[in-house]
Amino acid sequence: MKQQTDTEKVTCLIIGSGPAGYTAAIYASRANLHPVLYEGMQTGGQLTTTNEVENFPGYPNGVSGTEMMEDIRKQALKFGADIREGNVTSVVLTDSVKKVVVDGKKEIEAQAVIIATGASARYLGLESERKFRGMGVSACAVCDGFFYRKQTVAVVGGGDTAVGDALYLAGIANKVYLIVRKNYLRASKVLQERVKNTPNIEILFEHVTKEVLGDDSGVTGLLLEKQGKESVQIDVTGLFLAIGHQPNTAIFKDFISLDENGYIVTEGKGSQTNVKGVFACGDVQDPIYRQAITAAASGCKAALDTERYLQSL
Ligand code: NAP
Repeated sequence: MKQQTDTEKVTCLIIGSGPAGYTAAIYASRANLHPVLYEGMQTGGQLTTTNEVENFPGYPNGVSGTEMMEDIRKQALKFGADIREGNVTSVVLTDSVKKVVVDGKKEIEAQAVIIATGASARYLGLESERKFRGMGVSACAVCDGFFYRKQTVAVVGGGDTAVGDALYLAGIANKVYLIVRKNYLRASKVLQERVKNTPNIEILFEHVTKEVLGDDSGVTGLLLEKQGKESVQIDVTGLFLAIGHQPNTAIFKDFISLDENGYIVTEGKGSQTNVKGVFACGDVQDPIYRQAITAAASGCKAALDTERYLQSL
């Protein structure tokens, strides 16, 4: 006999737990939508991998990303959000049916869904980089920097993340190379000034990483190409990638409209996707601003849009 699976029915399901997902949960709980939120693989999202957040309004002395996410989570719990561990592994999202499967087994049917799955770190795509992942290659300086005390490490990238990571690592390691493919940094001016004034950071402009060198002990160096021709080898025991992110949309692609880079397309100034009753907020739909504050604001919009949608049913 076929086994009957119990499908849980919920009014508002939120997928993802960064500033967007948790803010959506605060607003949805206060609107009595009884939101259920699945936190995904990385509770608290990308911010938990950053060090100090200095530009979120309301924290004049800065705050750690993890602490801020714990605070927003607590705020959502206070208003009754049902926050659960678990990873949404597949979905069916149409105008009339919204079904999700959590951890490959639990089925949930929702009246409305808010997607806030964020984005994940990108890698260079080198075979040698794959080989040494977890053995010296990392995309999270705050998580793994501690292991490189008094060593020499490299960060690849020229944006805010790379510069922030280089500054963070400079406080732990003896020396940090910042490997930048162009002849300028894209990071904000305040961070650029700081990195240029940090004596144990050396910026290698117009350098491209060609290979990660290593042995059984892990990473031992990098082979770089300078200005498209000259080969340069540097000795490092750690390589930190900070070259941007890609949106976490793989499980939605058969149902939800994505742009050419995989970001969810939303209508006008709101959070409505191409499927009625499915909304998106945060980095998963924002290729431009990608800030904690804009993610939180879009989480608010998604909850308000959801409330209006549910009232219209
Ligand atoms: P980003 O701004 O997109 O910068 C990515 C960097 O990686 C660029 O310098 C880019 O080089 C480089 N890059 C990309 N692919 C590469 C490759 N294959 N090889 C070598 N270099 C490569 O990403 P992000 O730094 O993660 O920042 C994302 C967003 O979050 C931004 O809006 C940023 O302002 C924000 N953010 C803010 C803060 C803060 O305010 N405290 C902290 C972190 C992030 P090119 O310049 O040559 O393209």
